[in-house]
Amino acid sequence: MVFIDAHVHLDHYSRVGDVLTAAAAAEVVCIAMTQTPLDFEILLPRVGGHARVRVALGAHPLCAERLDEGQLRRFDELVGSVDYVGEVGLDGSRAGRVSLDAQRRVFAHVLGSPGLCGRVLSVHSRGAEAETVAALADAGALGVLHWYSGALKYADRALEAGLYFSVNPAMLRSQKGARLLRSLPRDRVLSETDGPFVTVGARRAQPADVPALVSELAAAWSCEPKGARVQVW
Ligand code: MN
Repeated sequence: MVFIDAHVHLDHYSRVGDVLTAAAAAEVVCIAMTQTPLDFEILLPRVGGHARVRVALGAHPLCAERLDEGQLRRFDELVGSVDYVGEVGLDGSRAGRVSLDAQRRVFAHVLGSPGLCGRVLSVHSRGAEAETVAALADAGALGVLHWYSGALKYADRALEAGLYFSVNPAMLRSQKGARLLRSLPRDRVLSETDGPFVTVGARRAQPADVPALVSELAAAWSCEPKGARVQVW
């Protein structure tokens, strides 16, 4: 049994070797997100041989306008070779609103990809929670909502659809995130850092921060850290 960082961007650290050494010492397994099929093909040879790293095949909503027919065809060719897909989803925030049409085209392609069945998806839903959850439910996808920040009623729909949630240190610092955690059954909660985009104190979060995060989960759940570790695993 190990710790798990269910959503981390290894290709965004300048010293990924150090990050993986620290992760191994802390007994943390990493699911490494990518943003495009091209990014997947670059990251896989760099870290894919690592025993405790799995590289996810991504089609990030904020990259949707760059994902042309060739990249979507490549997605279909590669998806049969992976266990994890991410980061995928929709972004209806100020940053994403302008590209929503392209995002919908890409996300619909991902959810309709013939090889998707059995893959675990790590899903971005910021500002588009209702639509993202509905699309996952309609597709019957096995998904983990990463850094969910929407209304609790859509989180309830996600639970009904069998979806999971991965929580990070930034979420637990916010009232909204803490409230979400209280509303989730423990067996639908996974740990993530979303490093290096999340900060811990003055530095970038990394997979080795997961044990401390799991201790925070234990405090929220009023159980021992060991119990929370077993629960998440
Ligand atoms: Mn991310």
